[in-house]
Amino acid sequence: MANAAKAHILGFPRIGAQRELKFAVESFWRGDSDLAALQQTGKTLRQRHWAIQADAGLDFVSVGDFAWYDQVLNTLALLGAVPTRFKFDPKKLTLADYFTLARGNPEHFAMEMTKWFDTNYHYLVPEFTADLRFDGGVDWLFEENAEAVALGHKTKVTLVGPLTLLYLGKIKSGEGDHKFDKLDLLPKVIAAYQNVLQRLQAAGVEWVQIDEPILALELAAVWRNAFVPTYEALSAAAPKLLLATYFDQVREHTALLHSLPVAGVHLDLVRGAGQLDDFLQDWPQGRVLSAGIVDGRNIWRADLDAALTALKPLQEKLGDKLWVSASCSLLHVPVDLAHENKLDEELKGWLSFATQKTQEITAIKRALNGERDAVAAQFEAAALSVAARNTSPRIHNPLVQKRLSEISKISAARSNVFADRIVKQQARFKLPAFPTTNIGSFPQTTDIRQARAQYKRGEIGHLDYLNRMRDEVRLVVQKQEEIGLDVFVHGEPERNDMVEYFGEQLWGYGFTANGWVQSYGSRCVKPPFIYGDVYRPEAMTVGWSEFAQSLTSKPMKGMLTGPVTMLQWSFVRDDQPRDTTALQIALALRDEVVDLEKAGIGMIQIDEPAFREGLPLKAADWPHYLDWAVKAFRISASGVQDDTQIHTHMCYSEFNDILPWIAAMDADVITIETSRSDMELLDGFGEFAYPNDIGPGVYDIHSPRVPRVEEMQRLLRKARGVIPDAQLWVNPDCGLKTRGWPETTLALENMVLAARSLRAEVAAGQKAIAAPA
Ligand code: GLN
Ligand code: ZN
Repeated sequence: MANAAKAHILGFPRIGAQRELKFAVESFWRGDSDLAALQQTGKTLRQRHWAIQADAGLDFVSVGDFAWYDQVLNTLALLGAVPTRFKFDPKKLTLADYFTLARGNPEHFAMEMTKWFDTNYHYLVPEFTADLRFDGGVDWLFEENAEAVALGHKTKVTLVGPLTLLYLGKIKSGEGDHKFDKLDLLPKVIAAYQNVLQRLQAAGVEWVQIDEPILALELAAVWRNAFVPTYEALSAAAPKLLLATYFDQVREHTALLHSLPVAGVHLDLVRGAGQLDDFLQDWPQGRVLSAGIVDGRNIWRADLDAALTALKPLQEKLGDKLWVSASCSLLHVPVDLAHENKLDEELKGWLSFATQKTQEITAIKRALNGERDAVAAQFEAAALSVAARNTSPRIHNPLVQKRLSEISKISAARSNVFADRIVKQQARFKLPAFPTTNIGSFPQTTDIRQARAQYKRGEIGHLDYLNRMRDEVRLVVQKQEEIGLDVFVHGEPERNDMVEYFGEQLWGYGFTANGWVQSYGSRCVKPPFIYGDVYRPEAMTVGWSEFAQSLTSKPMKGMLTGPVTMLQWSFVRDDQPRDTTALQIALALRDEVVDLEKAGIGMIQIDEPAFREGLPLKAADWPHYLDWAVKAFRISASGVQDDTQIHTHMCYSEFNDILPWIAAMDADVITIETSRSDMELLDGFGEFAYPNDIGPGVYDIHSPRVPRVEEMQRLLRKARGVIPDAQLWVNPDCGLKTRGWPETTLALENMVLAARSLRAEVAAGQKAIAAPA
């Protein structure tokens, strides 16, 4: 067919369906295997992934999506722009050097890592110094392209775009560095990309995909204005460029994208479905439009008929200039559904992982190209799956829907304001000033993990398991008595993961056996998926909390994972808005909170470490998100009496720009992670005059190092400078499950000493010595 649409993907997961890359890399790090073995694993995985793409019928295989650790670091290695502080020769960078950049060594701390837009993938942050050169680096990309070509594949090479690379990097000024702006580096960066593009052209590459996901952000004018000159310079002597945008609509940049001298543009039509019509107006003749119609961020099987209907008019307009694709790189979904052998057939029939998505993309392409009959079976199966999902009783639970329809009758507010509640809570708990507590988990010893695993495998019975966990809770309570803490936790030994634990007890959640997604480097996560109305068939934590409380007269905090975190760390339904799912979870949690209260638990913590992560990419979309996220939390928390104290916990995020919403959550106590920033994160709470109680973390839980009493005193004095004494709690940054017992005991003992000395200082009417800067 002359006007045939094409099919491609923006990238394939590199980790391997069985996490082969993870295991190979970690074995290399341990010194258990050599470089040749590692190289071989990489080669095998690339080959396999290209074969999946070619067999599916994609018109190109993707080269440049493979990375030993991270694609941003790979780009820096390619350009010769790795951080200079390591003193590596960029042109002779070895794989061992590359890993040192990512992981650090005794002399050098590792490169900083942060989240790739609104995904759970973490990239290494480029470090820009005045002495950084972009003189070219390793040849890996060219070698990988040659590798694919030698296998008979037609390749499309993908690169992280120059403006995105600059935008995501950080200026690090060393001694003697003059001040400069990131965009000052642009000429050097452009020259480096030109060089790469010329080499790719010489190698016979026809298309290069350049990813500029920053176009999904609200860009300042200086960044917007940089696009035209950059792409004019790049397209001059280069293969055809496909500029890829994703993760949101790019409507505000429509005119800019039309004016860029590139051969094609990719749009995310899942996150930005509505942008297409505007975008096609005045669409430059002869330019490729890549339609990201299959969801690259989620695991649901595509509705092929709907995709076909959406793209048909496009094809009439664009002919062979229409490319069919996934919304973004498939890096963010698991590799292959074929490895899910424990999932029941019904659920499995609703899902699609990266491998299946490549087949969906080509099915859509072929149907567009007049081969609908040849892919009839695929279309039929997809239609059946969509219909089954629409009507399955596993998805639609009338009880949940009735309750949700009546949610306006539920008050999302506590009966009385904090000022009144805290008086009653204080009368009930009689806590000392600066009460000490923990965030929830205590060390997860091999013994505990083993017991959980044995129970899961059916090797030990329920009673046996209960007894072992109860022994652990007893130990944790006894330790807390000895250490002298004021508010106790039960230690969470029964929980493998704070989301999975609850997901397993709620209806509507599913779990995969191999649904691994790369989080950073060799680390992968296996998010559960929410497929149906979330319903709590019975109490989830009450037995544990009740038991723990029975062991002590100190208040025992009940411990729950909040609605936003339950949502954020899962694959979610695409058949209803996120906020609907969040409210369903919130209702289930509300019942648990009330049940805990009935069982005599006076303090209940609802963790929301992922609250900040849920923020949309565009600030214009923040208010809507924050409104429903706060509402979901309040629905879960507001069913209790005044003298029940609600805690929440957040960590490892910026809080300052969302303080009014954190305050609107109206938890009686919030514990946050602040020691890493030397209490600086707390300043925002002070300036905002955060109204309720707050426990700033006084020590970092990531290191086995035991903080000295004086260090914590210093941090607490700093905190007192910002937060009124009456509101101040004392606690570590986060849960202690990754720590060992010896350092945990010592650290908490010191923490209690620090709090006591502070109480003495205050009692003696001494003025706290101002904290040294
Ligand atoms: N309660 C959880 C714990 O202590 C909180 C973990 C978290 O913030 N990620 O482990
Ligand atoms: Zn935390």
